[in-house]
Amino acid sequence: LKRTRTFSGVKPTGHLTLGNYLGAVRRWVEVDQYASDALFSVVDLHALTVEHDPARILRLSRQAATLLLASGLDPALCTVYVQSHVDEHARLSYLLECTATDGELRRMIQYKEKSVRARAAGDGVRLSLLTYPVLMAADILAYETDEVPVGEDQRQHVELARDLAVRFNQRYGHTFTVPRATHPAVAARVMDLQDPSSKMGKSHESGAGIVYLLDEPDVVRKKVMRAVTDSGSDVAYDKENRPGVANLLDILAAATDREPAAVAEEYTSYGSLKRDTADAVVELLRPVRERHAELAADPAQVDKVLREGAERARGMARPVVDRAYRAIGL
Ligand code: ADP
Repeated sequence: LKRTRTFSGVKPTGHLTLGNYLGAVRRWVEVDQYASDALFSVVDLHALTVEHDPARILRLSRQAATLLLASGLDPALCTVYVQSHVDEHARLSYLLECTATDGELRRMIQYKEKSVRARAAGDGVRLSLLTYPVLMAADILAYETDEVPVGEDQRQHVELARDLAVRFNQRYGHTFTVPRATHPAVAARVMDLQDPSSKMGKSHESGAGIVYLLDEPDVVRKKVMRAVTDSGSDVAYDKENRPGVANLLDILAAATDREPAAVAEEYTSYGSLKRDTADAVVELLRPVRERHAELAADPAQVDKVLREGAERARGMARPVVDRAYRAIGL
């Protein structure tokens, strides 16, 4: 019996956030690496879709990989590698570009948002920003992936990967496994502490509402204590009308493995909710930060893990991508 194959990734466009951790990385560590045959990738090609600095990308890639290991991904259990080290992603992406239409890519919510931002900044919209979900589909399909554990924001992109797999299989004969997205029950979309209407994203300009995995405890406390709530005072879990408080409840519930509505019942003031949330986040991130410091002191070891990971990933992807080339008539 074939084990479930899991693939997921993180973009090195900035420092990893609490959103990345609660929405994705924590489940990779606690569940997926044990329960499935899993690959986790620092998807650096995806970081080139917007204005970028070459030296910074390289630094952030290494840091993201180090943080994945520091979070507890174990190379003896799963495959950790950098996307650009494995040519199969780009090779397959082109075949999928010949399967997708421009209409379905222009409908992607992230494309709409990010292209508006790029235009407003006076930058051109890179073509790769439009085709990014196709490369992501290639990331997933190259490994015969069954499950893609991601935050809510990636739901539409995984849906596209499914559509492309089904379409390719129908046209050219069965080639790809059709994947499905999985999301955490709590904190699948962590919001910016300063603006609870937008998600906590690592590439946003202002760090005040974003908790980074490597923030010092006092910085975490300050950010959580200054989180924007509403003018009410009683604590209730209401995402629609009280998004700021609901976000804190999601974070605290996820960090302490409880239900947000149950957590809400334990609090009568925003002050104590914020204090406990800050403490819980500090405790959650403490081991990650400590382990990161150890690993960062030995970059050769991280490089070795990434080299071996890329080797393994290549071995898995090559036969699948070769099969796709034959199926499409090349
Ligand atoms: P970012 O938007 O921070 O650049 P990535 O695209 O690198 O994140 O995503 C890495 C993983 O983290 C994905 O599974 C994504 O869904 C998840 N993720 C990103 N931001 C959040 C968030 N605010 N809440 C929950 N999950 C998130």
